[in-house]
Amino acid sequence: MNLNMLLQNCSILDGTGAPAFTGSVGFDSGAMRVFRGGEHPESAETIDVSGLTLVPGFIDAHSHGDLTLVSPFATLSKLGQGITTQIAGQCGVSLFPSVGAYSSDFPRFVSGIAPYPDLPDDLSRLNSAMGFFDWLESLKNPIATKCFVGHGSLRLWAMGYENRKPDETELRRMQEMLRRCIREGALGLSTGLVYAPSCYADNDEILALLRVVHEEGAIYATHPRNEGDTVVESRAESIRLALTADVPLCVSHLKAAGKRNWGKPRRMLEQLDRAVEQGLHALVDCYPYTAGCTSLNVSIPPQYFSRGLSGLVEALYSKTEREIIREEMSRPSDYDNYALNSGGFSGVYVSSCPVDHSAEGMFVSEYAERIGKDPFDAYFDLLIQNGGLGLGIYFHMCEEDVLSILTHPLCVVGTDGLVGKCGENPHPRAFGSMAHAYDLLVRKKQLLSPEAMVRKLSGQTAEFFGLTRKGRIQTGMDADALLLDLNGFIDKATYQNGSSPCVGIRALFIGGKRVDLP
Ligand SMILES: [Zn+2]
Repeated sequence: MNLNMLLQNCSILDGTGAPAFTGSVGFDSGAMRVFRGGEHPESAETIDVSGLTLVPGFIDAHSHGDLTLVSPFATLSKLGQGITTQIAGQCGVSLFPSVGAYSSDFPRFVSGIAPYPDLPDDLSRLNSAMGFFDWLESLKNPIATKCFVGHGSLRLWAMGYENRKPDETELRRMQEMLRRCIREGALGLSTGLVYAPSCYADNDEILALLRVVHEEGAIYATHPRNEGDTVVESRAESIRLALTADVPLCVSHLKAAGKRNWGKPRRMLEQLDRAVEQGLHALVDCYPYTAGCTSLNVSIPPQYFSRGLSGLVEALYSKTEREIIREEMSRPSDYDNYALNSGGFSGVYVSSCPVDHSAEGMFVSEYAERIGKDPFDAYFDLLIQNGGLGLGIYFHMCEEDVLSILTHPLCVVGTDGLVGKCGENPHPRAFGSMAHAYDLLVRKKQLLSPEAMVRKLSGQTAEFFGLTRKGRIQTGMDADALLLDLNGFIDKATYQNGSSPCVGIRALFIGGKRVDLP
């Protein structure tokens, strides 16, 4: 036996939910070996870690980290909370396929989610999943990245921002490209049915694509059409589609936005339980906060995106269109109006803007008051000044819902983290989700045991996504692990200072090698 390193006498939470046990873990060319009790094998380096806890490297079940693979700030956001694997390409946005007639729209499309996406100099490298995985390999990012094909990317590639049904040729091209990407290693299809152009798809289109997902034995992940007033119906729609197509369903960032919708997650979880009884293979991901974060432009009705972001900015310049948009945004309607669900602009916090930074760190209402404008005008002008881009934090959920989702047996933790540039203030979930979930559910609310919580941060996610060598402390697994001072494992990221890494991680190992944080 040739161990490079042996961590001796640690408490082990193995990621399966089994009770903690004391043992030693050795690393041997990228894989791990577990020794229970008093066994003391030979090793080149032996470290006594009595009093510390070894857990599997955490798996971010809902990541947009594929859009910022080069940024050290983005990498720190993951490693700083113990994430060693991420499930990316979520909410309909992936970096592939990006080449085709509409490739000039692609960078701005991705910027809607990640304000400063990392793209290769030669975009043609990302013509399909294989090109993306080759580029990923060349970057040497320490985090293992698995990726969905984003439906928005696929639709943009096939038919631009067109607000209509695809014709037969367009649909067939999307199906063929989806099949090719899955065969090249993509996990399946993700939809982001609130974002253009994914939102222009009807159920026939999604079902036609899910047929390919079924044939290829892949997975469907979905951000639904609505997370507010019709969230129960929207989630039921995804369940129906998954059952009809017979595909595993990943329910992305389950929540209910807007005070009048609080309490609805219980109903959604019940409907999911019933679907599981009918044979649905499902997973839910959730980030442990009561505020969400996405594009600042998401409160604008979807039809204004059919000419891309430049079309949106043009509409906001026009006095007449601006009045119509304001009127539509002010009353409940069937689109997912984030500002309205956050109780108005006093619930929308400006996280980052790519050009004009003057509103960052303020609620839109505060910013409007400061510059002496009506909140709608302040918001519209802010979008114009930033080319339609920017990130907002939306205070629209309640803690009771978050707790009932996170404690459900089907739920695991995902960050849904989005980061801008170093120095900008991200939603704290980007840097803190894993430790925040642990602190909230194990320590503060005492709703889960450490074993059950660690499983939701690692083993359960690995199992659903078929990551057979990740997410467990077991002999033969990839040597991705964290050494924690478990009682001191606490998140430090807040809404005011969103980029503070967690404390309590004593060492982080990926592939058996100790990783220093960037
Ligand atoms: Zn989403």
